[in-house]
Amino acid sequence: MADTSYDQIDKLKNILKEKGYKLTPQRRAIVDMILKNQGNHLTTEELYNLVKKECPEIGLATVYRTVLLLEEMGIITKLDLNDGCSRYELVNEDESHHHHHLICTNCGKVIEVEGDLLESLENNIEFKYRFQIKDHSLKFYGLCSECSE
Ligand SMILES: [Zn+2]
Ligand SMILES: [Zn+2]
Ligand SMILES: [Zn+2]
Repeated sequence: MADTSYDQIDKLKNILKEKGYKLTPQRRAIVDMILKNQGNHLTTEELYNLVKKECPEIGLATVYRTVLLLEEMGIITKLDLNDGCSRYELVNEDESHHHHHLICTNCGKVIEVEGDLLESLENNIEFKYRFQIKDHSLKFYGLCSECSE
């Protein structure tokens, strides 16, 4: 795991350098925290609170700016889970498209769905409506296993 993280940091460093940005210690701390929280779908405020523990001098404005920069560069992507917050997650280059999420309406837990399962549906729609589908977005709402017990 540690190796993967280093690879990712190196990759990010190169992307930043190509675009003329430096991986400053503060940006590095933010990126580290995003990598550490893969799958957690943090809001900017949550990210700020985590980073502040390791980097007390960091300001919320810096975190906001860095998050926008990383989003602009396609390193992270904004998620709208209809809970009124902007959440972010790393863009996984191995994924052909963004994965889907299960959202527990009771505790707010967000679970990532593996695989897509929508290809046959898309094929049906493309055939029936002669509509060329490029992408789709889908969220599932319900109760997680703990809340439905
Ligand atoms: Zn739940
Ligand atoms: Zn996700
Ligand atoms: Zn999908």
